[in-house]
Amino acid sequence: MATGVFATAIACIDGRVQVPVSEWVKQNAHADFVDTITWPGPDNMLTTASQAILDEVRKMVTISVNAHGSAFIAIAGHYDCAAFPVERERHLAAIRDAVAVVAGWGLPVRVAGLWVNDQWQIEVVGYGGAIAG
Ligand SMILES: [Zn+2]
Repeated sequence: MATGVFATAIACIDGRVQVPVSEWVKQNAHADFVDTITWPGPDNMLTTASQAILDEVRKMVTISVNAHGSAFIAIAGHYDCAAFPVERERHLAAIRDAVAVVAGWGLPVRVAGLWVNDQWQIEVVGYGGAIAG
């Protein structure tokens, strides 16, 4: 097991979001390190991708959980997403659904849905997962 507290983020490839997401996760999950899985428009991917793609993403997340002991997974959608160019409300709905998808994987984690707004600040959309509180 690696040393330190790890958490996990599923975020867009967009280089504007990774630092704010990582900083928020470090603070709110009390993590030293944030394992990050990037995908264009991850909120859309988690709610519309094929089972084969979802299985691959689940494998990536499971490595972070099993090898690094991550107990916190953040899913972040964001403003001005080139891969998922829809209104904020559609992002928020997709983020909520994505939280339910990842929570449904049955991992021993808390899942947070995040929105990175037009100020590149984090807004919490909702929580899910096996670990409450
Ligand atoms: Zn994006």
